[in-house]
Amino acid sequence: MALAAYYGRGALAAAQVLDGFDEGHFRARLEQTPVGIAFDEAIATPEGHALAEFLTRMAARLYPQMAISGPTTPAGELASLARAINPAIEITSDATVGVAIGKIAKPFPTTFHAGATGWDGLLSTTRPQPVGDSQNPFGAAVAACLSAANIFRRVFLPDWQEHADNKLRFSAWTQDRADRPTRVTRTARSQWRLDDDVVLVGVGAIGNAALWALANAPAEGTLHLVDPQDIELSNLQRYVLATRDDEGRSKVGLGAALETRGLTLVPHQLPLAEFLAHHGYAWSHILLGLDTAQDRRSAQASLPRWIGNAWTQPGDLGVSTHPHFGGPGACVACLYLPSHHVKNEDEIVAQALSVPHLQMDIRTLLYNGTPLEHTFLEAVAAALGRPVDSLAPFEGRTIRDLYVEGICGGAIIPLGEAGHPSQDIHVPLSHQSALAGILLAATLIRSALGGDPPGTTATRIDVLHAVGTHLAQPVQAQRDGRCICDDPVYKDQYAAKYAENESTSPQQ
Ligand SMILES: [Zn+2]
Repeated sequence: MALAAYYGRGALAAAQVLDGFDEGHFRARLEQTPVGIAFDEAIATPEGHALAEFLTRMAARLYPQMAISGPTTPAGELASLARAINPAIEITSDATVGVAIGKIAKPFPTTFHAGATGWDGLLSTTRPQPVGDSQNPFGAAVAACLSAANIFRRVFLPDWQEHADNKLRFSAWTQDRADRPTRVTRTARSQWRLDDDVVLVGVGAIGNAALWALANAPAEGTLHLVDPQDIELSNLQRYVLATRDDEGRSKVGLGAALETRGLTLVPHQLPLAEFLAHHGYAWSHILLGLDTAQDRRSAQASLPRWIGNAWTQPGDLGVSTHPHFGGPGACVACLYLPSHHVKNEDEIVAQALSVPHLQMDIRTLLYNGTPLEHTFLEAVAAALGRPVDSLAPFEGRTIRDLYVEGICGGAIIPLGEAGHPSQDIHVPLSHQSALAGILLAATLIRSALGGDPPGTTATRIDVLHAVGTHLAQPVQAQRDGRCICDDPVYKDQYAAKYAENESTSPQQ
């Protein structure tokens, strides 16, 4: 009863990362493990509030029971937020595992102490952590994501203690573990100014988190949101901005409705190619939170001066900063060069349904979206060794529905038996996409404050393990002639595009 209406999507995301996934066990763990957030007057600071709110936005999507304890007014507001995300959620009085914010001893049998100071997120398994009073939301949001990762491991991994983050300071500025506090004198400015308009391509799970951070940051400037799609029920599992009532709304509409601290948000409900065709190629700063390699390559080919890029794949996430095109560092297209035979969708679906001999029929069904007929379902049922009745609900629906819900979603083949997911059907965990989005937004502010790394740098984080060390690494281009950044025509065009700006900038 208390599980979210989109619970199946959360189960699917978990099935893709937990070894030996068993849905009955997963569901039982969820139903038996209330998750808590406890805070003291630290909630009155901007950083304490950001931490508790962002954590609630993630936890309420997966866990059917939550305990929220602390000063009455903010606790009530967070409980309302949790109910808006999952109207069936049960607000309980205590919890088995949870996060403490502020100077609270040990409110739950398993407690993770979370804190934040400016750019740094803090986590400990034993001691209360400091909570800062700045307007910087990045350390708080990072601490919320990493707390959520620790809770997930505590609830679902038998060896969670080996993977618990203790004495962790993670800097959203360096995008790495840090030994001492991050000090950035430039961030002491009361407002962070984006001089050029910025384009966020993709307002999905990563884009939602990036937008939350940018809206809560003291940032000024204009951010264009580009995404053609509307929100589906299954998206709610990991879209941190969305509540249950947002199903059916446009993704850019949801994003642009956010209250900001000075940033102007402009929605464009268009695919990237159409956005570029209508609004030109003069964009100098682009943030990418996309699903497809093809769109990432197109964005790079439009030759922005600077790109921030984030991605998730089964079990991990990554963020890369590309401050210069055509130098020794990899461009975005370098990261997505097809290195092996990429299967077409018809081939993937035909293999998943065990009917490779019907690949040509499947290509037509995919292209036309023709309703499935009984005879086709009989052939698939026979090939999969499943009763034809189990496929009956897909009669009259599309081949894509059959593939996505029946195979990937566990309606025909139980989750966990379908084998490892290929990248195209990967469903990330909510804290995984959220952390990618927060770090993506941080790369933009860092760039605006003049803190770009000298060349392309990427950080990768495995959310099933404790945070490692030396995560931010330079990424060099291969220079084997296969990428657009090897091509003199693109390099000259990039140089010409920004030469004028460079010569005029000293006069500004
Ligand atoms: Zn390249």
